[in-house]
Amino acid sequence: MIGRFLGNRDEPGRLPRRAKGRLLAFLTFASGITLLTDVIPSDTPGLHRTLAVQLVVIALALSVVFWVLPWRRLPHGASLVFVPVAFGLVALGNYADPNPYTYGLPYVTVFLWIGTSHPRWTSVASLPISLPAFILPLLTMPSAAGTWVGSTVFTLGLCVAFGEALAWLIQRLASAQRQLAAKRSQARFQALTSNAAEIVAILDESGTVTYCSEAVHAVLGLSPHALVGSRLWDRVHPDDVCAAERLVQHCVGEQASNQHGEFRVQHRDGSWRHIEAICRDLRAEPEIRGLVLNARDVSERKVLEGELAHRAYHDALTELPNRDMLLDRLGHALARSARTGQRTAVLFVDLDTFKIINDTLGHQAGDDLLVSVAQRLRASVRAGDTAARMAADEFILLLEDLSDIDEARRVAERFQMQLRTPVELGDQSVVVSASIGIACSDGAEGVLADDLLRQAEVAVHAAKDHGKGQIAWFDGSMTRTSLDRLALEADLQRALENQEFRVWYQPIVDLPSGRLTGVEALVRWQHPTRGLVPPDKFIGAAEETGLIVPIGRWVLREACRQAKAWQSVWPLVVSVNLSARQFQHPGLLEDVASALRDSGLAPDLLKLEVTESVAMDAGVGTIQTFQALRGLGARLAIDDFGTGYSSLAYLKRFPVDTLKIDRSFVNGVAEDEQDAAIVRSVVALARTLGMRVTAEGIETAEQLEALRGMACDDGQGYLFARPAASEAITSLLQAAATAANASTPLAA
Ligand code: C2E
Ligand code: MG
Ligand code: MG
Repeated sequence: MIGRFLGNRDEPGRLPRRAKGRLLAFLTFASGITLLTDVIPSDTPGLHRTLAVQLVVIALALSVVFWVLPWRRLPHGASLVFVPVAFGLVALGNYADPNPYTYGLPYVTVFLWIGTSHPRWTSVASLPISLPAFILPLLTMPSAAGTWVGSTVFTLGLCVAFGEALAWLIQRLASAQRQLAAKRSQARFQALTSNAAEIVAILDESGTVTYCSEAVHAVLGLSPHALVGSRLWDRVHPDDVCAAERLVQHCVGEQASNQHGEFRVQHRDGSWRHIEAICRDLRAEPEIRGLVLNARDVSERKVLEGELAHRAYHDALTELPNRDMLLDRLGHALARSARTGQRTAVLFVDLDTFKIINDTLGHQAGDDLLVSVAQRLRASVRAGDTAARMAADEFILLLEDLSDIDEARRVAERFQMQLRTPVELGDQSVVVSASIGIACSDGAEGVLADDLLRQAEVAVHAAKDHGKGQIAWFDGSMTRTSLDRLALEADLQRALENQEFRVWYQPIVDLPSGRLTGVEALVRWQHPTRGLVPPDKFIGAAEETGLIVPIGRWVLREACRQAKAWQSVWPLVVSVNLSARQFQHPGLLEDVASALRDSGLAPDLLKLEVTESVAMDAGVGTIQTFQALRGLGARLAIDDFGTGYSSLAYLKRFPVDTLKIDRSFVNGVAEDEQDAAIVRSVVALARTLGMRVTAEGIETAEQLEALRGMACDDGQGYLFARPAASEAITSLLQAAATAANASTPLAA
């Protein structure tokens, strides 16, 4: 009990400490004034005038002191010091003025003050002090001496009864007030949670649900009452129960931080919903007393992630694993064969007449042929082997755990046999042949996946040199490619010195209005003998040798300079590609800053494009680099979105302005429902993340219409314009600026 009135917190509903102090000051003042009323008419019999005046002065002075004391900083019990002081004053007052009427009055006042401002039983606790203080002066009072026992019992009993009754009343009032506040806060909590789209649930430490908001009906088809009393994990997917348990365990005792978790929960219709949850320990909160779980349905995001992940590792046309997945599997196969001593073979398959079929019968026939070849490839390998598509008409067969190296040749021959059956392409029936290069690991350690692939590629070139439909094994004499690579490196170095690189620009168009709003800078190599070399022929080598850094720096400076020059003709944003090596280069910030400074281009007119996989691979550093680039004022875009494997949850942490949807999705957006669904989801995702979406590689009016229908913001592609040298773009901009209908250049 002592703790309660010595404690430092004002209890809700009880008299605050400051009010106690003020009440005390007021009562002391009132007792001083009561005594003064006796002092003023000087004819009161038996009055010790001097002592009485002194007491009046002391009481009034004390009331001033009590008024100004910093009660809020003193403990609750501080005002109780007044109890002995008060009785001392009463006793003295009695000597000064033996008036029996004023004698009992101060006692009543003191007990009333205790009753209103202190917990119950405080007046009983103060009885030992008040008892002698009451009796001793009475004994000196001749008129009352005979009845002092009765008087004591009566006055003090009455005082205690009054004091305690008041304390009880105030306590009841306080608890009623607290209950009302709790009800209000509960009503507020329910109003908030019942209208929220997120599920809000309260759990105890064992995971049992003690409260659940209405949203659970929309998300899981369940009524909140059905969940209350059951354990959270009862409906969690068996594989995710550990994750859910961990979330609650981590939450218990971590009041300061929110714990995040993801798990699947069963819908009433039996389907599984992906739930993202945040858990916070609010057991100490009197209104809550539990773990609060905020949960929302992220199933759609998960489906999109799954589809993107599938796309990232599969070829969209043939559904075969793509290069990335193949490299991953090959890496694992080589590691295993180093342990077991079994061999791994890579068969590089290149169709001999694909280009001719594609050019004469059209792209659709070409695509149909590739799908049919893919099916036959799948049919010619064993269950554990992999058939993958590398590029247009290049496929790989990966054979693992070979005890007999000749098995590779047998697979190659079997596939060539299968190819002899004609493929029906429309009303044409065609037969294709394939050249196959085979490279085989000898089971030794340290063989790299890239090396084995390159060896198979070298072998397929050798096979082609011997005519169509040939099979060739790699051997050490076939190192032409590596020599080519060395020559290419030396060539690139020289090209940089001789300023053989050119920047071409491809317009980017605002889809709703058809206005040209930007250009993408694309590097070209004006080779003295090979002519204009496209970037995919040399960016890889430049990246490997590190020459991409000076080449990219030059492209950046040139693009900024040119964009600044164009501003007077037509306002546009210039996009510049950054490769992995450039993005991780420590000098990147300085390069961007100096390109902007030297060209005078406003920073927000420069957009830097980084592919999705580069952004993901750089990990935590990505966010810092992005933020630093943003700090310079430049805009940022994720290029080729959909081709790398993104964690969409991660994406929202990137301070990026634009997502550029990869050409492979745009390709099928008009006729392939799956592509259309992906593009629609990406646009929706970008909207929620506050990003713009640019569609790459728009080639047909149907694609454009479909993209406009999906509210895609910008587009780029051959339909509007192919990449072109700066002079051609200047003419385009001038034409646009002078045309009467200047606001719709390039509108399709
Ligand atoms: P990207 O950044 O995704 O650039 C778009 C590519 O798509 C360009 O190929 C462009 O010509 C091509 N394209 C645009 N519209 C269409 C269309 O409608 N249909 C088709 N089929 N293709 C279209 P490009 O110029 O060959 O560049 C290829 C890649 O090389 C670029 O892809 C980019 O990743 C890289 N690259 C180009 N210039 C640079 C550079 O200066 N630095 C770095 N690091 N990479 C560059
Ligand atoms: Mg790009
Ligand atoms: Mg791109």
